[in-house]
Amino acid sequence: MAPKGDNVVVSNMKLERMLSMKGGKGESSYANNSKAQALHARSMLHLLEETLDGVQLNSPEVPFVVVDLGCSCGSNTIYIVDVIIKHIIKRYEGLGYEPPEFSAFFSDLPSNDFNTLFQLLPPLANYGGSMEECLAANNHRSYFAAGVPGSFYRRLFPARSIDVFHSAFSLHWLSQVPESVLDKKSMAYNKGRVFIQGADESTAKAYRKQFQTDLARFLRSRSQEVKRGGSMFLVCLGRTSVDPTDQGGAGLLFGTHFQDAWDDLVQEELVNSDKRDNFNIPVYAPSLQDFKEVVEADGSFAINKLEVFKGGSPLVVSQPDDAAEVGRALANCCRSVSGVLVDAHIGDRLSEELFLRVERRATSHAKDLLEQLQFFHIVASLSLIHA
Ligand code: SAH
Repeated sequence: MAPKGDNVVVSNMKLERMLSMKGGKGESSYANNSKAQALHARSMLHLLEETLDGVQLNSPEVPFVVVDLGCSCGSNTIYIVDVIIKHIIKRYEGLGYEPPEFSAFFSDLPSNDFNTLFQLLPPLANYGGSMEECLAANNHRSYFAAGVPGSFYRRLFPARSIDVFHSAFSLHWLSQVPESVLDKKSMAYNKGRVFIQGADESTAKAYRKQFQTDLARFLRSRSQEVKRGGSMFLVCLGRTSVDPTDQGGAGLLFGTHFQDAWDDLVQEELVNSDKRDNFNIPVYAPSLQDFKEVVEADGSFAINKLEVFKGGSPLVVSQPDDAAEVGRALANCCRSVSGVLVDAHIGDRLSEELFLRVERRATSHAKDLLEQLQFFHIVASLSLIHA
């Protein structure tokens, strides 16, 4: 018998109460499917370090505070926080000072798998320990860690308490699917589609407006939290086209095999078309212009750098000629970031069916996927303007 989505339905729940990348350490978990993000982040380290060089150093008696926003639950966030702190230590030492103590806040939505993240954290180095202990401290952390649950589209920290904000591959997640996109009576109703790739102009406009409203709220909150002299390094999915219905890599990821797999489920009468149309991926890959307009209108931050950066493919495979491996990688990549939302919308049995179809379709287009699937990122280095 065909599986039915009867073990559902929480789809009208607020996005920020349920969004997360796939937790745990399983095959389609984010922890196991974020090597591409790790590689892309590494290729941008020089830009991050440039930002860190511009951060004002305070007296070493005051703890230095670093935040990773949208940390998720893999090792990427731990790696990047380590890079940031090591770089700041080097700067203090270069000036002939003992470095300060460090606090690192790992922040994400409450449904993030913080447990897995905390278990991945290396043990705390023994502050004030012997020289041998310091030398052995390479796989220790030199900071106090804490998790902070909440949406980065609102306040998360006390005023003027943070030296460096970092956020990678997170700001393209909208706070919600725009209401008009799900409203049958609206011009922006995204009929037949689960993403804005190839959608009508009014749908794209609604997504763009949501992105800009969200980013404005993000900047307003951070401008209050960052210390004077502090900086932010932000990376999110971006696009090179001016047309928002051409979402670049995100468009290929959610607008082709994923879209077709939804259409398969409709055709096979496993879900009805309204149910499909009611599902939309709350992601928007902005253009440089989309992003810049918001930073300028906010006016609290000076732009040190704002550019589109070619990240590369989100698929990391050991045998590029093995179509089955490529297909599986695409399905896992897609599932690790959208699986939680799909499960909530149609239940996990139908979700399984959906991603099986994504995998099958991707396997038969493996060569094209490897050639065409490329991610571009918007990279922003911003410093608080002194009042
Ligand atoms: N920075 C990590 C993970 C990126 S995955 C890395 O580089 O690999 C994107 C993360 O953004 C997810 O964990 C998701 O839960 C988080 N996210 C999305 N919207 C958010 C919001 N409004 N507030 C906080 N985190 C959010």
